[in-house]
Amino acid sequence: MSKVLVIGCGGVASVAIAKICQNSAVFTDMCIASRTLSKCDAMRDKWQPTTSTKITTAQVDANSKEQLVSLINSYKPDLVLHLGLPYHDLVIMDACVECKVNYVDTASYEPEDIDEPVWRAKYEKRVKEKGFVAYFDYSDQWERNDAFKKAGKMALLGGGFDPGVTNVFIAYAKKHYFDTIEYVDILDCNGGDHGYPFATNFNPEINLREVSAPGDYFENGKWVGVPAMSVKRVYDFPEVGQKDMYLLHHEEIESLTTNFPEIKRMRFFMTFGQSYLTHMKCLENVGMLSTIPIDFEGHKIVPIQFLKALLPDPSTLGPRTVGKTNIGCIFTGVKDGKKRTLYIYNVCDHQECYKEVGSQAISYTTGVPAMISAAMVATGTWKGTGVFNLENFDPDPFMDMLNKFGLPWNVQENPVLVD
Ligand code: NDP
Repeated sequence: MSKVLVIGCGGVASVAIAKICQNSAVFTDMCIASRTLSKCDAMRDKWQPTTSTKITTAQVDANSKEQLVSLINSYKPDLVLHLGLPYHDLVIMDACVECKVNYVDTASYEPEDIDEPVWRAKYEKRVKEKGFVAYFDYSDQWERNDAFKKAGKMALLGGGFDPGVTNVFIAYAKKHYFDTIEYVDILDCNGGDHGYPFATNFNPEINLREVSAPGDYFENGKWVGVPAMSVKRVYDFPEVGQKDMYLLHHEEIESLTTNFPEIKRMRFFMTFGQSYLTHMKCLENVGMLSTIPIDFEGHKIVPIQFLKALLPDPSTLGPRTVGKTNIGCIFTGVKDGKKRTLYIYNVCDHQECYKEVGSQAISYTTGVPAMISAAMVATGTWKGTGVFNLENFDPDPFMDMLNKFGLPWNVQENPVLVD
């Protein structure tokens, strides 16, 4: 019996909304609020006939704390599920604290303007102290722990697939399969084909900022940096086949190595095809991935935002994407004094997702866990006051819901390891 306010109405939100409608025993009421009201109304019209969840809509600018507070106070949700952009994490968290409501998101904070002096100074200090250069990290969100505690509410961070399900896989491996986990490789494989020479599977601006940045991994208590796309491995993924994958920085490494200090090394790999990499390099070389505004015929234009306007909208890729994703974690560790290796993964078929909810598997694999994360909080299955990541809680109820809501997982002993 919960009221949820969903912020954002893009690719990921469209799946989470469909899944909330499938879970109306928990979510009795939902308000969809985003920048473009017509998209929220279209979503309500699509799903309302299928569900007893009562759906309303609202327009909101997630940059405005005032508008957010006013919306939250008038709708009075039990929790806010933030599926807009990571730029808005802090302002939405602050609005939740002020209104005393729970908060769930899927991506750690990053600023839209990386040259803003206060943020930049903090960033430079973090790069020096911690050693990873990514523009996104958890520090600003974790700093709100006391504020959430004082409000008597919880914030659950990173409730998508990676971060999200991958964090739960690790908590599950530790609970059921290992006394100590020593090495973890997170492998994110998209074996899908949308038929375009170049498109991104989720928000292009966020996606291209992430993959064009230098990579790193965590080893023996330290971050080790590598140039973007410089570490390549080939892996034969169950149900997908052999793919090239590249080492990237990814935010769950930060929370997981904090919460499981026993882990000696953690790396994250994502698959990319040659066409994607060639296009990305070319766009980068001509300056199209820049986030710094330029003057063009009297207008200020941010190159990466202009590029986003030219690229296919990820939410339209559903009908044309075929193939499967495979996302999971490979563990090496010790159980009862003996070495053990394990692979926990999910395989998701783009066309099956499209048939069920009208979206491709990247939005699906993020939107389903976003709903499950919200359900964990809404039902009080995961309880607390303060700011949390998913590995802080009992993984079992989450793993059960993955099976029930479309993302069944597999456990394989003795997998092929990544060198
Ligand atoms: P989209 O770009 O498709 O959707 C973003 C939505 O936010 C749009 O509806 C957009 O509105 C809305 N929005 C943008 N700015 C504002 C604003 N100022 N006020 C209100 N609403 C706004 O992104 P995705 O659905 O692909 O991604 C959503 C989130 O999920 C991102 O944070 C992304 O990083 C994260 N993600 C997480 C993953 C994980 O596994 N953890 C994987 C994939 C994505 P409009 O429609 O008007 O543009």
